[in-house]
Amino acid sequence: MRLVFLGAPGSGKGTQAALLVHRFDLGYVSTGDVFRKAIADQTPLGKQAKSYLDDGLLVPDEIVLGMIHQVLDGLLLKKGFILDGFPRTIPQAEKLEAILGVKKQPLDAVISLEVREEELVKRMLARKRADDTDETIRIRLATFHKQTEPLKAYYQNKGLLRSIEALGSVEQVCQSLVAILS
Ligand code: AMP
Repeated sequence: MRLVFLGAPGSGKGTQAALLVHRFDLGYVSTGDVFRKAIADQTPLGKQAKSYLDDGLLVPDEIVLGMIHQVLDGLLLKKGFILDGFPRTIPQAEKLEAILGVKKQPLDAVISLEVREEELVKRMLARKRADDTDETIRIRLATFHKQTEPLKAYYQNKGLLRSIEALGSVEQVCQSLVAILS
């Protein structure tokens, strides 16, 4: 099972991905985690990415695409994987398709977790992460709508999009996910 999780910040994609990874023994990468770790470790990648995360903006495609091969290599050895937070732009999606095409490991589905805006803001304020201030939350949501939401139509056209209302409890959402994947 090879999946992409698409969802606004605060939609619970990290939480749900972790449950599915455990249940189906999948590989997992969150590019947000990769960037946060690089920043904490003060690596060259972290230094390049820091201001974008601080401001709630996407890290530019050339930086993301420069590191994504390395991130995907280990994952492609697993029997399946979930990508959380990648791709986030159309050029990233095209690059992913090219890489997976060469490896003959196409995506099985792209899961879009749908949550209404007030709930997203409430959840992000509650988790108190360093990049979740009022201002960055507003910018991250706007960035999502502008740059990442177009991926829904992109994957819809490829017949890969599966949207679910991610509003109930963590367990309820997980059950709906398992149901649409089975
Ligand atoms: P996340 O934890 O997925 O919400 O990501 C946190 C932050 O990392 C985002 O607000 C972006 O600044 C950056 N980021 C993560 N993944 C990507 C990506 N695929 N493309 C560009 N920026 C990303």
